Amino acid sequence: MNILIVGSGGRESAFAYKIAQSPKLTKLYIAPGNAGTEQYGQNIDLKVTDFEGIAAFALANDINLILVGPEEPLVKGIHDFFLERDELKHIAVVGPQKLGAQLEGSKDFSKEFMFRHNIPTAAYKSFELSNLEEGLAYLETQKLPIVLKADGLAAGKGVLICETLEDAKTELTAMLAEAKFGQASSVVVIEEFLKGIELSVFVLTDGDSYKVLPSAKDYKRIGEGDTGLNTGGMGSISPVPFADASFLNKVEERIIKPTVDGLKKDGIPYKGFIFIGLMNVNGDPFVIEYNVRMGDPETESVLPRIESDLVDLLEGVAKGDLDKRSYTLSPKTAVTVMLVSGGYPGDYENGKVINNIENVKESIVFHAGTKLVDGEIVTAGGRVIAVTTMQDDLFTALQQATADAGRIFFQGKYFRTDIGFDLI
Ligand code: ATP
Repeated sequence: MNILIVGSGGRESAFAYKIAQSPKLTKLYIAPGNAGTEQYGQNIDLKVTDFEGIAAFALANDINLILVGPEEPLVKGIHDFFLERDELKHIAVVGPQKLGAQLEGSKDFSKEFMFRHNIPTAAYKSFELSNLEEGLAYLETQKLPIVLKADGLAAGKGVLICETLEDAKTELTAMLAEAKFGQASSVVVIEEFLKGIELSVFVLTDGDSYKVLPSAKDYKRIGEGDTGLNTGGMGSISPVPFADASFLNKVEERIIKPTVDGLKKDGIPYKGFIFIGLMNVNGDPFVIEYNVRMGDPETESVLPRIESDLVDLLEGVAKGDLDKRSYTLSPKTAVTVMLVSGGYPGDYENGKVINNIENVKESIVFHAGTKLVDGEIVTAGGRVIAVTTMQDDLFTALQQATADAGRIFFQGKYFRTDIGFDLI
């Protein structure tokens, strides 16, 4: 099978690593990929939203399956684009169509979906500019803190947790009346604050049956002890020690099954990954958000734990017989530590030469923001490299991943040395 992965981050590196192991793979391409994905396949210089370019490449190179990494091309309709043209229909796309991608693309859509199907989530109400006054009045009736969410995609920045009523009113006004997050905040979801501990669960579905992928926890903040600014993610671990069998059973019965059934009932076709962001509130799971793709850096700790052939599973998604595909997981613990550019998530410089990757022997090195320039691997983004290790127990894995993160060098390199230690 010839496969094209769309994307360029650590997540896509992890997909490429796993897919390259498959006996079913003939040729692997990554568009656009990074300096690390070249070791698993061939990078193709195409933008993730260049649907015409991707289609032309897929036809010319006999691509059988396209795996879409990031949300943007899904929300913009890459899957629909392939279904709508006769000459492209035979190419399977893993990732939902535009309608299913609204689970991530519109928070109002996803909240309505959850309420319609009795999926536990925080109470909410949505407002737009025409009923701003009602929104301000609604805020006065709510407990603090309160959560304001821009309806659309806002690069992970559109969620505000307001501690005071005054702050909430100012922010609601800024979002609706002053387009604080542009078009994304033309609708705002006001949501009850849930107190608990967060984790993520991942599902692969063909729209009918599903496989529950390993759970993971990510570490979003830049500083040790989970302090400071939010980032794309500084590390992750899988499995999550506090998500025991009884908790995961609740997640499957109360959330995963009603989600997959709900999509079917609503007539929303869905072939792809569902990333369910959860809050564990005193042992009960609540959905914080859906994403319609895998997470980054969760993918880097989730995929190495899947022992089965990922290509076989993806083929099952494409053909609609996922229930017939074998699926086994490693009991080991995976820990991912992200190396980032100095200054990230603020301003940082690119082009720093990366050395000593070959000194990492016990972990997998997944490239994220890297580029090959004149034969040298240089930094090309805020999040540069994800180091993932798999060990029998969490403590050994944490030590190994942290030690291996220290072995790689580039000017300004920063990483957190406390990923997962809160769970020991
Ligand atoms: P990202 O892109 O980072 O995944 P997002 O912009 O899609 O985020 P959410 O995941 O919905 O937005 O919210 C971001 C963060 O805000 C969550 O990870 C969580 O920490 C916090 N949060 C969101 N909703 C709630 C809530 N109802 N109660 C408490 N915290 C919340």
